Amino acid sequence: MSSALLNEAERIAREFEYPAEEVKRGVEEYIRQSNEGLAKENATLSQIPTFVTAVPNGTEKGLYLAVDLGGTNFRVCSVQLHGDTTFSLTQSKIMIPRELMASGTSKELFLFLARQIEAFLRIHHNEHFEAHLRRRRDGNTIEDLFDLGFTFSFPVRQFGINSGTLIRWTKGFNIPDAVGQDVCALLQSAIDELNLPVRVAALVNDTVGTLMARSYTSPGETGTLLGAIFGTGTNGAYVEKLEKVTKLKDMKDAQYDTSTGEMIINAEWGSFDNHMSVLPDTVYDRELDADSNNPGVQMFEKRVSGMFLGEILRRALLSLHNNPEFGLFKSSQNSSVSIPSDSLFYRQWGLDTSLLSQVEADTSKDFTEVKAALKDHLNIEKPSNAECQAVKTIVHAIGKRAARLSAVAIAAVLIHTGKLETENMVDVGVDGSLVEFYPKFEDYIREAMREIPQVGVAGEKKVRIGISKDGSGVGAALIALVASKDD
Ligand code: ADP
Repeated sequence: MSSALLNEAERIAREFEYPAEEVKRGVEEYIRQSNEGLAKENATLSQIPTFVTAVPNGTEKGLYLAVDLGGTNFRVCSVQLHGDTTFSLTQSKIMIPRELMASGTSKELFLFLARQIEAFLRIHHNEHFEAHLRRRRDGNTIEDLFDLGFTFSFPVRQFGINSGTLIRWTKGFNIPDAVGQDVCALLQSAIDELNLPVRVAALVNDTVGTLMARSYTSPGETGTLLGAIFGTGTNGAYVEKLEKVTKLKDMKDAQYDTSTGEMIINAEWGSFDNHMSVLPDTVYDRELDADSNNPGVQMFEKRVSGMFLGEILRRALLSLHNNPEFGLFKSSQNSSVSIPSDSLFYRQWGLDTSLLSQVEADTSKDFTEVKAALKDHLNIEKPSNAECQAVKTIVHAIGKRAARLSAVAIAAVLIHTGKLETENMVDVGVDGSLVEFYPKFEDYIREAMREIPQVGVAGEKKVRIGISKDGSGVGAALIALVASKDD
């Protein structure tokens, strides 16, 4: 019976295989969709112009504020850039109440955010704050405002460095009245309502921040080419030649510096191939999508990022559980596990992706880590070795497919920009719990890249990948700096 379970786990794992031939097809299609996105609005790859036209070189200086609304948490920080590739950062992190994410109004959400900024200023910059309030009371109009970079990691249509309207929510957020509104204006009016000495100077996507932060802290000869996030969601931002962003011609009012001949493009690659021409698909992917609050969109993200991998796994394990032939975690002669009916195992989104990392990390013979993970996450006790092996087999397949899909997006950008041909080294900054903590995630990305003919072994060797820590904080500060210099 346990060999039937293992056979079935292996069969499910094979459904997640994503062979070299398909990776190659994925890259070709990514490049096609990316050119389409540079030419027109409403393509599957949004390729959003950010109006940031240069990456830093490590010499930038000053004190800036940065906030980050990205998924699970809201971060507020102040960043002192020392001008020598280093910085100091003071940060606070607040979990966003679920009711504000998916049922409140935009006013409630943004006032909540402004209140967190106020609390941060009171704790870390109270002197500056009090001085500002005194000046206001005295009717003095000379303001000494903090320039703030607002990292807002959802698809926005940007009109300038500090304005942009929300296209759609992702990652579990759903506040309909915010869609179509300028999110910088929403934050600024909440800030003004509380009388805070803060000017929203720049709208920042977290991937752009990751790219900027990496370029400041690890400057190379040519700066960083790509910033990529593999966290709750996934996305990338890269440096593009202005002449290739042909849709800019249609944006008559947009103002930006053309002297560098480049602009950072926010790819919004989470929505790559939404119409499913090349993405791999299993019954678990299809069911996850159908039961999500945004079916048919973010199809790439739904196969790659932290928000979804746990749920894909849960659905795959549930199919082994519900089928009496295999009876995974079902108290019987094959299993001594008994799962309470209110277990997270039965609840949508009940399985966190960190379980996959914990399981993948297990190198023991007796599944010590797998057992600990099942206990920690699902309160499952005494699983058999066969059950642990089944979980491990499926986890590995889901994680590896996510990494190989990540390679598609990264390699497509490398090929599309032609940098592998002209440079000796190409720098990529990455951030997010998945790439940071999932064992060998980067190795699997590199393995897939070598299998792509236009990258190959030689191309892959040229790629330098580094974690870009505190990307949204430092990166947002750097963009606020660029924006305040533009005025
Ligand atoms: P965010 O993207 O929200 O800024 P993170 O980069 O920390 O923040 O990503 C959070 C996501 O990563 C969540 O979906 C969570 O399930 C997942 N995650 C958290 N820890 C791990 C881990 N150790 N391994 C893999 N995924 C993780």
